[in-house]
Amino acid sequence: MKYSNDTKPPFKPRLQEVVRGDRELVPFLQSSFIRDCNISDMAVEEKYLLYFSIVKHSSNSVVITDDNMNIVYVNPKFEEMSGYTYHEVLGKTPKILSSNKTPEETYHDMHCTLQAKKQWKGEFVNIRCDGVEYIQEAVISPITNVKGEIVCYLGEKKDITAQKKAEKEVQQLTIFDSLTGLYNRAYFVEEVGRQTALPPVKKNHFSIIFIDLNRFKNINDTYGHLAGDKVLRIISKRLGKTISSDDFIARVGGDEFIITHRNATEESTSQLAKNIVASFHEPVMVNKQEHYLDASLGSAIWPEDGRTLTEILSRADLAMYNAKTLGHNYSPYSSDIGFKYTRELELSRKLHLAIENDRLSLAYQPKVDISTGQIDGMEALLRWDDAELGMISPVEFIPVAEKYKMMTLLGNWVVMAVCKQLNRWENEQKSFNGRVAINLSVQQIEHPRFYEQLLSILNSENISPYKIELEVTESMLVSDPDKIMVLFSRLKSVGFNISIDDFGTGYSSLSYLSKLRVDTLKIDKCFIEEITVDKHEQTIVKSIIELGHNLGLSVIAEGVETTEQLNYLSSLGCDTAQGYLFYKPQPGAKLFSGDHIHALAKV
Ligand code: C2E
Ligand code: CA
Ligand code: CA
Repeated sequence: MKYSNDTKPPFKPRLQEVVRGDRELVPFLQSSFIRDCNISDMAVEEKYLLYFSIVKHSSNSVVITDDNMNIVYVNPKFEEMSGYTYHEVLGKTPKILSSNKTPEETYHDMHCTLQAKKQWKGEFVNIRCDGVEYIQEAVISPITNVKGEIVCYLGEKKDITAQKKAEKEVQQLTIFDSLTGLYNRAYFVEEVGRQTALPPVKKNHFSIIFIDLNRFKNINDTYGHLAGDKVLRIISKRLGKTISSDDFIARVGGDEFIITHRNATEESTSQLAKNIVASFHEPVMVNKQEHYLDASLGSAIWPEDGRTLTEILSRADLAMYNAKTLGHNYSPYSSDIGFKYTRELELSRKLHLAIENDRLSLAYQPKVDISTGQIDGMEALLRWDDAELGMISPVEFIPVAEKYKMMTLLGNWVVMAVCKQLNRWENEQKSFNGRVAINLSVQQIEHPRFYEQLLSILNSENISPYKIELEVTESMLVSDPDKIMVLFSRLKSVGFNISIDDFGTGYSSLSYLSKLRVDTLKIDKCFIEEITVDKHEQTIVKSIIELGHNLGLSVIAEGVETTEQLNYLSSLGCDTAQGYLFYKPQPGAKLFSGDHIHALAKV
């Protein structure tokens, strides 16, 4: 050790002497000399005494090491904080305090800074001699002599364990979801926002998996919010078990979660999604009650599927939505999905305008009595010819209208258009047997004022319900059977006919079917397509016809395109047929003009 002239007599012995002897120090500190004297007038030795007494009574833990980092002095606060006595640590390095939890970089940074003769500030996780960990905020200053050589290091440390704990608690409140302990939306947005700002390199690709619980609302409604909360906590724990330590989960909405999966590939993402889906297979037990839940999942990968946080989020959301729509548990994002939903949004926007601006029309497809070859009714089918997009099929836009809750509006438009057409035909003295069939959507019949609205439109155009048949699909009957039964008898009592459309594709129970007062079963065209070649389809069609007749209903086959199909249906005793073999759907004005209307040869 090198001593400067200033520090003679030798620093180390002098220091130890001062520290050991309180006897010396106390009277000194109490002396009027301290109070009265001017420090600059003091002798060097007196100055030491003063300085060390200050150090000794500091409320910070103070450690002085020599230039080899060996402890030469610690003050009483150090002893209190660390549990070690002065004699136990003398000559040792402060490493004895280490808990091994301070990052290596911290020590590295400290050494570099001190080597450069600069003061270093930082934090250590240390361990007391009784094994208790504590966090210290440290300021370490290299002390140099007049020549600029380091003679010792002065370390001042404050215990910030309590402060850290409080900070952590505050942090918990700001980044964690208090119900589940998972990260919250704010944290997710911040963290993923940070990730997406990085330049993409092979190693930092990640995916997000959007998870939306299905039917969770039912649990809340039926068993109360406390049960709902418990279910969410159990689900959160299960989700936690599916991810690796690099991944994290955030609860971003009531029953919505997002998993951020690091080092992602398509395969690892879909494997994780499968594991998540599997984690729902077991019921959730809350208050001795088993709850069966499942979820819809959608994933998107950064940077392939989207570069910004907003993009990646909306794509995972779309993928999830796609899964829900298809009734699947999981769908990864693809550009097809992007296109589909962009178009869907465009259609929903344009459909509003189409209704307002009368851009829709109806095509009518006659139904033909198989035994007489005569027209036995019509079916009204919606047509939409958009100025920019061209003809859009109802197979595409009806589901959009349903999804965007526009079906009642659209359905009422159809009823009104049918009524007007019936009056036009009447005025032009163009008549036909049978009724005009109107297709209904589930949203229409579920509307509380459906019946009233329907009758009010008919009344306004002076059309009798005896002119109208209502086509409802089998799948629409299952939602609320009792309500449907009441509605159907009201409709029947004022004169409407009801037919069950796409019959054979849903699963209505036979006893229910016999109780519903319907008139017709309409066999879906998917069974007719193969009817002349496929034995299986033949059996189905034969059974439907028998069933219908046994229940006293008439049976119609749709999608009849060939004479072979017609002949076969005829041989089974099917009553009515509809299809391109007879007529394609066409505008009301065209239908009864020229050659369009003709009696078919009896089959
Ligand atoms: P749907 O009620 O099963 O109607 C039969 C569909 O088959 C119609 O398609 C019709 O044009 C088509 N079709 C008729 N004959 C043949 C044939 O011989 N071969 C083939 N391959 N197809 C035939 P479209 O007009 O495209 O309508 C599709 C679906 O859109 C309808 O199926 C119906 O579910 C729905 N839809 C149409 N208009 C309305 C409406 O006003 N309201 C509601 N709610 N749905 C409608
Ligand atoms: Ca139909
Ligand atoms: Ca059909």
